[in-house]
Amino acid sequence: MLNLPAIRPVRGFAWQRGFEDHVADLDLVVDLGARIGSREWWRGLASCTALCAAALAFWPSFPTLSAEAPAPLTEAQWQEARALAIAPLALGADTGRRMAPTTAVRPLLDTPERPAIDLTATLGRGDGFARVLERSGVGSGEAAAVAAMVGQIVPLGGIPSGTRMDMTLGRRVNRAQARPIDALAFRARFDLTLRVVRVNGQLRLIRTPIAVDETPLRIQGRVGAGLYLAARAAGATPKTVEAYLRALGSRIMVGRDVRADDRFDMIVEHRRAATGETETGKLLYAGLDQGRRRMQLLEWTLDGRRQWYEASGLGERRGVMQAPVIGRLSSGFGLRRHPVLGFSRFHRGMDFAAAYGSPIVAAADGIVSYAGWHGGHGNFVQLRHGGGLGTGYGHMSRIVARPGAHVVQGQVIGYVGSTGLSTGPHLHYEVYRNTVAVNPATIRFMTTSQLTGAELVKFRAMLNKLTSIRTVPKFNAVAGQSGVPAS
Ligand SMILES: [Zn+2]
Repeated sequence: MLNLPAIRPVRGFAWQRGFEDHVADLDLVVDLGARIGSREWWRGLASCTALCAAALAFWPSFPTLSAEAPAPLTEAQWQEARALAIAPLALGADTGRRMAPTTAVRPLLDTPERPAIDLTATLGRGDGFARVLERSGVGSGEAAAVAAMVGQIVPLGGIPSGTRMDMTLGRRVNRAQARPIDALAFRARFDLTLRVVRVNGQLRLIRTPIAVDETPLRIQGRVGAGLYLAARAAGATPKTVEAYLRALGSRIMVGRDVRADDRFDMIVEHRRAATGETETGKLLYAGLDQGRRRMQLLEWTLDGRRQWYEASGLGERRGVMQAPVIGRLSSGFGLRRHPVLGFSRFHRGMDFAAAYGSPIVAAADGIVSYAGWHGGHGNFVQLRHGGGLGTGYGHMSRIVARPGAHVVQGQVIGYVGSTGLSTGPHLHYEVYRNTVAVNPATIRFMTTSQLTGAELVKFRAMLNKLTSIRTVPKFNAVAGQSGVPAS
């Protein structure tokens, strides 16, 4: 706080000077934070309190404001106000003048019925065809009859959910009965419209096929900044692009090997109905033109396995044998002292120490040639793979594989245990070449399927047929723009 400046006017009388000196020394604005408890501090506190009290004493008081309450409406006024007002529908829209019926009004004995009702129902997911009809007011007997008629043409479960059914319900004999179906129309399939009409009291089913063009759709473009976005911009659906990337991924590393100047080329199943709808199916062909190198992949089924083949007829390389269990190699292949028998014996496989109950998976695709108890092997499973190769899995706690079943690489065939001649939970793993046990460490199962002969001719013919498809100009126009068409 500031001290008041000492004002010293011209000096007059002695008492006056004394008073002036006193006033000059008087510190009126005491710092209440300093020298607490001193005389000056108490004086400062007292003057501060006095000032606060004075300020509160002069606090003004405000009178309460009053307003006139509106006079209540008389009945006549209320009626008039209601006649002129527009009340919200949510509040009943209770407006207008109330009028009592005059003598000219004659009450009806019965309200008239509409002769026919046109309505639209939608088949929901998990809904039943007859149930939709019943829900719309059709009698259960007639709904079942119509469902049976339609069921002869298309499987009722095959009608896609969301299908709109336009129907006309006709006049009924009395109110206790359900209205009969006069007409019903819906799209039963992508290429078929069904109509049910009543002719001379009998229901008749009319099929109207819709012409569908099934020419596959070819989508091409330059990779540019990104393959995914470029393909989407060119008109490919997300599912198509995913399938395309997966197909490419079976041959190259897409993130590393695809350049901006490369051109992608995909052909997808596509159906165009005469009524304008389109439907996109699965990817049939995946191509990538890298200038120096051109990749053409076509999906083909050989021996029940569908995979991507190159134009030369070369299939996907199926990797090396998968490790049958996640565990530590505890004993290798070869001569060793047997832990239970105590003498040297040739170890015909590899041992993997793993926790009891760990899943054991098939090292490669194959057929279960044995599953059951097998002496010292305990619970034992043997698989036969192609090319004279086989694998065996011993000491299982539980067998899952069934003899004769087909298993794929990575499929669980049993669980780690310690059955048979075993000192603790581990997997005894054998690999055979032409029924002779070999060192699993030396085997690399590189299997590549190759189309040959008549199969290759068929494959080439399909490839030529597909790649002769011309790109739809519309999609060329769209390519390069940022907009992604919804499909
Ligand atoms: Zn072993």
